[in-house]
Amino acid sequence: MTPVRIIILAALFYILYRLLFGSRKRKQAVDSESGEQKSVAQDILVEDPVCHTYVPKQQAVKTKKDGETYYFCSEKCCQTFLEEQGEKR
Ligand SMILES: [Zn+2]
Repeated sequence: MTPVRIIILAALFYILYRLLFGSRKRKQAVDSESGEQKSVAQDILVEDPVCHTYVPKQQAVKTKKDGETYYFCSEKCCQTFLEEQGEKR
């Protein structure tokens, strides 16, 4: 094998490598970027004061009481909270 052929082969392998792994890498980077953005938006967790579970803020049931906003995992917990607050006063 002449050195010129080795260089051509090396170039071909490099092009193939770029085609196979270069494009895949770029796609993965885009996918993980969009995934990160989504998880950041959903990962704002708020504690349910009734059952002490953490709920994503966007999915939580909200109620305002005495100027404070409370977040609940469900309508049921919201009701329980309001009833408990009512009993105490
Ligand atoms: Zn709850």
